[in-house]
Amino acid sequence: MRIPLIAGNWKMNKNPAEADAFMTVVADQVPDPDQVETAIAAPAVVLTTMAQNNAPDRLRLAAENCYYEDAGAYTGETSPKTLAEMGMRYVIVGHSERRLYFNETDDLINRKVHAVFRNQMTPIVCCDETMGRRESGEKIHWVVSQVTGALKGVSEQQARQLVIAYEPSWAIGSGTSASADQAEEGCYLIRQTVADLYGDPVADDMRVLYGGSVKPDNIAELMTKRDIDGVLAGGASLDAETFLQLTHYQ
Ligand code: PGA
Repeated sequence: MRIPLIAGNWKMNKNPAEADAFMTVVADQVPDPDQVETAIAAPAVVLTTMAQNNAPDRLRLAAENCYYEDAGAYTGETSPKTLAEMGMRYVIVGHSERRLYFNETDDLINRKVHAVFRNQMTPIVCCDETMGRRESGEKIHWVVSQVTGALKGVSEQQARQLVIAYEPSWAIGSGTSASADQAEEGCYLIRQTVADLYGDPVADDMRVLYGGSVKPDNIAELMTKRDIDGVLAGGASLDAETFLQLTHYQ
């Protein structure tokens, strides 16, 4: 049984005071993590306050990015070791905005995946898909190559814990989610790719999320799909009440 994961991605929004206000509202109201796990990914500067102040035990904290070395002369980067020490459970790796605006390659993403595992956290690896690529029917599907690239050298045991998010960039921030069938198709493809790499039992344990304009009014249908184990929500995670509605989608 895969426990659903409802994760918010605040991106470069919210300051520490706004994060505190959000936490005050959601603290006692998110579901029991044994039933439905919940997480918020926040900017690193805001996570410091959230980790110190009032992050409830049942809401996991996540970083939106990290570097692949634990320490050293890397001006401006965030250490995965420090994130782990601060109590982060998850780190988003390879979000389409990072691939697009910060030129993150599959190789860099793969190094970050290893860094996150090395520090006993769980990566949420994002796979993009553009409409153009979706329609062109390339020989090796881009989703397959992103998953394969991100997982190079990842052990079977690590792959079991992994979270992968199918996030078509045409649906991100557009207000138009992929249909539940399109989202299932992408998530199924991810699970099949992991099954090809590690076998069915590993693919059955690993969680796959859908992201891209998830809202309270479309989450329930998305969550009925066999290969969708949760969501990664951007805009809809910014408002505490809306985020709570997502977490109580059932
Ligand atoms: P959105 O963002 O829900 O605002 O579309 C999702 C994401 O980028 O993870």
